[in-house]
Parts: sequence; C-alpha cells; structure tokens
Amino acid sequence: MTHLFPTYDRFPIDLVSGTGVHLTDATGQTYLDMTSGIGVCSFGYAHPAITAAVSDQMTRLWHTSNLYASALQEHTADLLATPAQRVFFCNSGTEANEAALKLARKATGRTQVLAFNNGFHGRTFGAMSMTGNPSIREGFGPLVPDIQFADYNDPAAVTAITPALAAVILEVIQGEGGVYPADTTWLTAIAAACHQNGVLLIVDEVQTGIGRTGTRFGYQQYGLTPDIVTCAKALGNGLPIGAMIGSAALAPAFGPGVHGSTFGGNLLALAAASAVLTALTPDFLAQVQHKAIGVWQQLTTEIAPLPAVTGVSGRGLMIGIHLAPDRPVTTVIRQLQAAGVLTLAAKHNTLRLLPPLISTPAELNLGLTTIANVLKEEPHESL
Ligand SMILES: *Cc1c(COP(=O)(O)O)cnc(C)c1O
Repeated sequence: MTHLFPTYDRFPIDLVSGTGVHLTDATGQTYLDMTSGIGVCSFGYAHPAITAAVSDQMTRLWHTSNLYASALQEHTADLLATPAQRVFFCNSGTEANEAALKLARKATGRTQVLAFNNGFHGRTFGAMSMTGNPSIREGFGPLVPDIQFADYNDPAAVTAITPALAAVILEVIQGEGGVYPADTTWLTAIAAACHQNGVLLIVDEVQTGIGRTGTRFGYQQYGLTPDIVTCAKALGNGLPIGAMIGSAALAPAFGPGVHGSTFGGNLLALAAASAVLTALTPDFLAQVQHKAIGVWQQLTTEIAPLPAVTGVSGRGLMIGIHLAPDRPVTTVIRQLQAAGVLTLAAKHNTLRLLPPLISTPAELNLGLTTIANVLKEEPHESL
C-alpha cells in the first residue's frame, strides 16, 4: 500500500544510483539516461567537480538565513548574471516565475500579463495561472486574475501587447507543451512590442537554460534582451535551486522585505550551482553545439523518416520526436525502458529527449539508434 498521494503515474523502476549518463535501479538493471531527471542533471550523475563542491560545503555549513551576507550567493549570482542584472535565489522553477510575476506587477504598477497557450510555468497559483494548459488549471479556480493568453507563434499576439500589460511571459522553446521552438521573426516582433509599450519581457528558461539548447540561455540564440529571466532545473544539477534574474533597473521594486524565501539561496544548493556554472564554460557549450549537430543529423536521417514519426523539433539537446497516433508515447517509453534507455513525454504525443549535456557522441548515437529500432517495431507491441 502506498502512503503517497497519487499525484504521479510512476513507472515501476526505482533508480538508486548513477554515474555519468548511466543509472541503475534497485534490481541492478542499468539504463542510458536521456532525461536528466527532467532536464535537471545536465552534468550527469556523480559529476566529480559538482560532487566535490557539495561534499565540501556539506562539512562546513548547510544553511544560514538571508539575514546575513553571503559570499557564496554573491559569487553564484556573479557567475549567473551580467553586471547589469540582479539575481533572486529561490528553490524551483515555479518559485522563480512567482518572483517574476510579483516583480513585474510591483515594478510597473500594472496588473495584466500576457502568457501563451501550450506554455508551462509551474504549479503554484501565479505560475499555474500563467500556464496555458487548461488541464493543469482545472478545478483550482479562482486563479490569479488579469492573465490573458495568446497563441504561440501567432502574429496576432504581437498586437495584443499594449501599455496596459505589466509583462509578457514565454518560453523560447515550449518544453512541456511539446518541444515547440518560437519563430525568430515572431519572437523578435514580440520583444520589440514589449519594448515599445514599456512591457517587461519575462523569458522562462527553466527548461531551456543552463546550456540545454547549446548556449547558456536559449534566448541568446534569438538575440533577445529580456527584462527578467527565470531559471531552475539544471542550475543545481539535482539540488533544488531556482533563480530570477532581472535587469538592475528593476532592483528598487524588490527592496528589503518585499519578497523572500527561507531556503532560497541555500548553501548546499549554491555550492552545486556555482560548480555547475563554473563547468558551463564557452568550450563546454561549443562541445554541446558540436554534439547537437550529430544528433540532428541522425534525427533527420534515421528518425524523422520513420512511419511512426510525424516530425522532429527542438534545438541543441532539447529534442521532441512527434509520434504518430498509433504509437502512444507512454508505450514507446516503456518499450525503450525495456531496451535500457530512459526517455520522457511531452504534450501532443511527443517523445521528449533531454539527455545529459555530458553525453558523448557515442552515447547519444546509441540512444537514438535504440529509439529508431523501437520505433521500427510494429505498433501492436504490448508492454
Ligand atoms: C519545469 C518547468 C517549470 C516549473 O519548475 P519546477 O521546478 O517544477 O517548479 C517552469 N517552467 C518551465 C519552462 C519548466 O519546464
């Protein structure tokens, strides 16, 4: 009998240890990981430098409060942001988006926010209210008011940006929504309309950030300068940490006592985050980009043409394989588990891959080859 709320439909695999990109379950079965948790463990498992940084911090101090100065917080913020930005540390993606929503309203004195259908920003009230997926919001109303939705990549959204808005919030690639990237021209027009109307542009980089798409943040590939960036998932490589990064001009709106968090900026999580950011060098990112070229070649030549596949989308090592209706993604995930490869789902019957960024070309190739082989099987496979 379970003592847990049934909030998750869990696979019967209990992962108990991991090294590099390999995970082992309680029965001793090993798996090639193409999930990174859900985009969290981008530096894989038991990463030497990150593990050493956390172990070292563990022996000294786990927690203090935000009532005291913190060189480690300053150092991590320095690694994360530019001199023209400020950072607020929290514990998750949803909290980073809550902070962004609060800051946007406080700084502009406006209440309206434009978000996008199919977008995902988290499960607390503010973040959920900005999430463009009715099934996530259903039954929890009344939600936070003054949040409107437009269609992603729809030019009509640009005209919906008026001086009445405090902010526009979006992902540059909708992750949970099915790994759909923004069109560059559309996103450029959205950013320009925000700028012209004094509307803050919040880019949710919780999934796309920290190297996932081949650059530190996904928005860099769109030439954007967001007012606020939110970040979490891969920031701590598995220790819970989120961050809201805002332009320094917004700092007066978040003065002492305006917002806060007991655990935000926790020392163990910061030790992990500073090690992650230190490892996320331009050279490391160049390697991710290089590996992504091979991955996209293989996706294009070996996976996209399969009858089981209707398309592939994404950027860098954030990959969506859109499956035909006769191949339900959960069944494919189970078949891949049996074949020793862990994968994820996203909306619209999408097989989502977020492999650790440290995966070697050979490991990525093996994962994709296994996926291709499973997708070549007949759809009647019952697992
Ligand atoms: C996962 C995710 C969130 C929520 O992050 P949590 O840490 O689960 O609260 C928010 N935005 C995006 C884009 C995400 O992928």
